[in-house]
This record gives sequence, C-alpha cells and structure tokens, in this order.
Amino acid sequence: MKLKVLGCYGAEMPGYKTSGFLINDDTLLDAGTVVSVLSVEEQLKINNIIITHTHLDHIKDIQFLADNVTGKRNGHINLISAHGVLDILRANILNNIIWPDFTTIPSMNGPILKFLPVRGKEELSIGSLTVKPVRVNHTVEATGYIIKDKDGAIVYTGDTGRTDWIWEVAEQEDNLKAIFIEASFPNSMAELADISGHLTVNGMAEELKKVGDKKIPAYVFHMKPQYLDIIEKEIAQLNSKRIHVLKQGDVIQI
Ligand SMILES: [Zn+2]
Ligand SMILES: [Zn+2]
Repeated sequence: MKLKVLGCYGAEMPGYKTSGFLINDDTLLDAGTVVSVLSVEEQLKINNIIITHTHLDHIKDIQFLADNVTGKRNGHINLISAHGVLDILRANILNNIIWPDFTTIPSMNGPILKFLPVRGKEELSIGSLTVKPVRVNHTVEATGYIIKDKDGAIVYTGDTGRTDWIWEVAEQEDNLKAIFIEASFPNSMAELADISGHLTVNGMAEELKKVGDKKIPAYVFHMKPQYLDIIEKEIAQLNSKRIHVLKQGDVIQI
C-alpha cells in the first residue's frame, strides 16, 4: 500500500494544508486537500473518497474535485462515509445552494459522485482495498477506518479525542502495519483539546499504549500549525522511535 500525504495539518495557512491522503493513487482518505496538490490527470484517477466526518477541513475539496473531473472521466467516484455524514453533506453542501448537487450531475443516471454508506465495523471492498469503519469520539459523528490491501492494514483515526473501540478492532488485525493518529494540540492546551474532541501529544501517546504491539510505527497528523514547533518538541521528548510526524509530500510505503 502506498499512502501519499497531500495535507496533514489541523488548519490552513501558507505552507500548511488540511487533512488529505491518497492511497494507491485512486482512493482519497479525507478530502481537505486534493485539488491544490494533484494535477488534473492525477485527480482523474480517483475512484473513491473516504470521509471521516463533516468538518470542513476534511471535506472541502470534494466539491472542487467533482467539478474538475465532471465530463472528463468515465464512471463515478464513490463517496464513502457513515449514513449520517452523507446525509449532512447532501443537506448542507451538495444542496444546489452552497454547491451544485454532483450526485445528479452531469445526469441523474450518470452522476459524478455516488454515495456509498458504511456501517459500523462492516467491511467494504473497493478496488484493491478493504475498508472497515469504526466510530471514534469527536464533537460530531466521526468514523476512523481500518484499511487493508494485500500488503497489510493501517488504522486511521481521523479527528478524535480519547477513544477505545478503534484500538480494540485494530487489535484483531493480524497484519497491522501502521497507525495514523491525530495530535492537534500541545500538552498545555489539554482543556481545549478535550472540549474540541482532539488529542494533545500526551493524549496521543496514551492512545498508542492501547495497541498491543508497541513496534507498529505511528504517523502523527492534524497538528495545529500555530503550535507545530512545540508539538514537535513534545513528540521528540517522548523519545519514541516508532512515532513519526507527517509532512506534506511524504509517501509512506506499507
Ligand atoms: Zn473535526
Ligand atoms: Zn480536522
């Protein structure tokens, strides 16, 4: 499995883009950053968009991607998430007010976006990947995912505060190769992390203790760029060889 980091920060400002990861060139994991990084040719290869939750920093490029590729590709793009998330996108974004409803464009019978709902822990096969959704703890309905291909499995938390279920499900994977976990805030901002459903550096380290195999590499994302220096310093102080801070443009080969 190849995972390319398009954006990996918890806010957008010059040099820092919000969460978007490209798996095996054809599947997006969150869509906070897509169209400003990938060429139109690369955008045309995307067959699936997996979304964790409805916050704008994870969805905003769905709209622009749909617009860019309409009329240029054969077949639709699957928009994959929990029922509740897809309902919110339909009602509030793809509603012909904020943005055209690309689930009916260019035609009702041949739209560019098709909703593909997932249910808790039910595995879904898309192309070379198997996707298992697991609910996590955020301020809105949010789903993390365990994603597998022939090379192994990864767990991706999306935005989350303290949580247990995803680690219990991850434990059942016998070929877990990597963990992608958020750490939005430095330790001094634990209260804000708590009320906003995010993790501090120490919170992230505590979550990792819930995974039995302590050698599985962990890749950290969703850092608030305003506090990136201190977050990186605190992660270095953990003195853990398994923890890596993601950067835009990184390619992780599983
Ligand atoms: Zn969020
Ligand atoms: Zn976010």
